[in-house]
Amino acid sequence: FLSVATVLGESARKHPDQVAVVDSGNRISYHELWAGALRCAGALRASGVQPGDRVAVLLPNSADFLYAYYGALAAGATVVPVHGLLVAEEVAYVLRHSGSVALISGGPMWPVAEEGARAAGVRTVHGLPEGGEPLTAPEPAAPEDVAVILYTSGTTGRPKGALLTHLNIVLNASVCAHDLLRLNGDDVVLGCLPLFHSYGQTCAMNATLRAGATLVLMPRFSGAGALELLAAEGVSVFMGVPTMYHALVEAAAQAGPAGRPALRAAVSGGAALPVAVLERFEAAFTTRVLEGYGLTETSPVATFNQPEFGLRPGTVGHPVWGVEIGVADAAVEDAVVLLADGEVGEVVVRGHNVFAGYLDDPEATAAAVVDGWFRTGDLGVRDEDGFLSIVDRKKDLVIRGGFNIYPREVEEVLVRHPAVSEVAVIGVPDETRGEEICAVVVLRAGTETVTEQELIDWSKERLGRHKYPRIVRFTGALPLGPTGKVLKRALTAGSA
Ligand code: ATP
Repeated sequence: FLSVATVLGESARKHPDQVAVVDSGNRISYHELWAGALRCAGALRASGVQPGDRVAVLLPNSADFLYAYYGALAAGATVVPVHGLLVAEEVAYVLRHSGSVALISGGPMWPVAEEGARAAGVRTVHGLPEGGEPLTAPEPAAPEDVAVILYTSGTTGRPKGALLTHLNIVLNASVCAHDLLRLNGDDVVLGCLPLFHSYGQTCAMNATLRAGATLVLMPRFSGAGALELLAAEGVSVFMGVPTMYHALVEAAAQAGPAGRPALRAAVSGGAALPVAVLERFEAAFTTRVLEGYGLTETSPVATFNQPEFGLRPGTVGHPVWGVEIGVADAAVEDAVVLLADGEVGEVVVRGHNVFAGYLDDPEATAAAVVDGWFRTGDLGVRDEDGFLSIVDRKKDLVIRGGFNIYPREVEEVLVRHPAVSEVAVIGVPDETRGEEICAVVVLRAGTETVTEQELIDWSKERLGRHKYPRIVRFTGALPLGPTGKVLKRALTAGSA
């Protein structure tokens, strides 16, 4: 009796009249949401979907996403949430690779969904499936059954389908709801993270519903829009990626003190949050920002700044309940050789949250899970008090003249310059040194007189000679992926 569908089903039984979801001003109670999911499950069954089938969902953050997600799960199907910004060909790949029997879509994503599904020969459902009798109870699932297949963004080759079990998701969402955030029925969580991604799915959607709290859906993020919703809906918990933090800080500065509601808690993850942005956010919203760390393959939360250990901004805290973290020698690939605290190495994870492997890709699974540990591809270091810091991604490392440079360290220095709004540091090819360090910078409005040389000098004063950027480029905006993370590979490709 431990399944993702019962996250919603149990809350509907305990507090049916509580508002579960707010979608464009519509307030949907737990009872209504669960009844709608069971209707969707019945309609899927009537159309021939069997337990164990895969049902894909390509929808914006909306009540329909929740009906389709919990409906497919209640019918005993595995859900395949499709990334919202894929093109039709990529959608077709995901549908074919996952062996999905149907795709539920609608809204702005419909044309791409339909084209992709046609190419893959998969049936589409516009809006929600209708017909048949609602199910009276969800199809039982075993904890180790696969609940969701989430495709990675494919930065390092073809997208891979990460298999997440009911146990993975229910436990990780419960840990988020109870251990980490102590969510309760009075909490209102802003659902601005995309629900097709593991961070939004587990931490915003499943954790909120697990706790019987209210999720306010936001289909398209903007700083000003989020600020408005925080006040209008009495949001108590904000969850975002660093670019969202940045946008909210900017919007708050424009709005002035009256337009900045206080929050009970704020969570950052998905990418490194510059300490300068964290401090500005805390000051504007009189709250603490709790930074966590994880990956799709770890459901996602692996570590978190937990108040009982003390908060240490700039670190990603301690492993969460039921999870163990190690730092391993990154050069040894076929075994996990753990390093001592204080040494930089590859972060490895084991525990309740580690996925069941990549769909139909035993080679990739064997490379990722070694000696019972999941290798994250991230470089990190643990201090003597057990706080983990993420140094950088293994693949973002810049090697300049034989020295390893961690772009994140350089970014932290540049983002402190008063004229710098956002920055991404990358390696660009260089004949003599192999790679040269390049900072791509977005300036704050009104500071356009700052020169490249001034930023180079600023970094030179604060970083070792081998580390400061020799090239600074200004840009209007950094390229962002669908989850709001800076796409470094797009910047690197543009400069090759
Ligand atoms: P891909 O890994 O395929 O490029 P992705 O970034 O969408 O795609 P996710 O699983 O969403 O994949 O992201 C996990 C990665 O995000 C981690 O491996 C890590 O590099 C980064 N990350 C997550 N949280 C943090 C954090 N707090 N600090 C630094 N990096 C983080």
